[in-house]
Amino acid sequence: MAVGKTAAKLGSAAGAVASVSEKPVSEITKPIAIILFGSPGSGKGTQSKYLVEWLKIPQISTGDMLREHIRQGDAIGLAIMDRMRAGSLVSDELVNQLVFERISQPDANKGFILDGYPRTPAQAEEMMRLLAARGAGEVVIHLVVDYNIIISRMSGRRVCPVCGTLYNAVSRPPKIEGICDLEGAALVIRDDDREDVVRERLAQYERQTRPLIEFFRATSDRLIEVDASREKPDAVFERIKRELRGVLGQGRVSA
Ligand code: ADP
Repeated sequence: MAVGKTAAKLGSAAGAVASVSEKPVSEITKPIAIILFGSPGSGKGTQSKYLVEWLKIPQISTGDMLREHIRQGDAIGLAIMDRMRAGSLVSDELVNQLVFERISQPDANKGFILDGYPRTPAQAEEMMRLLAARGAGEVVIHLVVDYNIIISRMSGRRVCPVCGTLYNAVSRPPKIEGICDLEGAALVIRDDDREDVVRERLAQYERQTRPLIEFFRATSDRLIEVDASREKPDAVFERIKRELRGVLGQGRVSA
């Protein structure tokens, strides 16, 4: 297995981040890839949105891209529908291709936030190739959350079918129970948030994705691990910002 080779690439890509001069993110020509890593329900989507606003680089969520294909009912959507509904991962080839196309868009020139990718060793290896080809350096942010907290968070999750806003009975309740604050629409449980599906997604995470963190731990000196169990999302984000300033250099990110 080519872990050694990939590790070397990972190391050099990480080193490249450190060597960039201390300028605001907007002035940096070398793209930054922020990889948000954590189990389903760890808050990757929420933290991505904060990061988008702060760093002014786009979020690339493979889950959102795949759901969009299903919504459109196109060939890709039809091909992946059953696997997604069952909580299984879709093929590495497909997500690798989607990510490749997305990071080639002009709005990803300065960098991007990867949310939900990579999820398997094969995806991690392809990602390192893609980042090397783009000359991008990576920072991995691991959101660490206790298993039981994940289950209780995800079972309380509801989504607005109109605008996609996520709510949670405990951490982010709507003003009126069961109703979207923005659209007034009745909230629904996302298909893959049903309890049996949640357990399958967590099982897949344990089997296929969690081992990647050992790989990142062993090979990257740009790995930030944040306890995302206890505090509210904005407090977690404050800690991420502090850590990112340390890793990227104080002057490279605005206050
Ligand atoms: P979560 O992180 O809460 O599981 P996502 O929106 O990231 O939610 O993913 C939802 C589903 O989309 C996954 O269960 C899987 O079926 C599919 N998916 C998303 N990203 C990937 C990926 N990188 N590789 C394979 N399947 C993926």
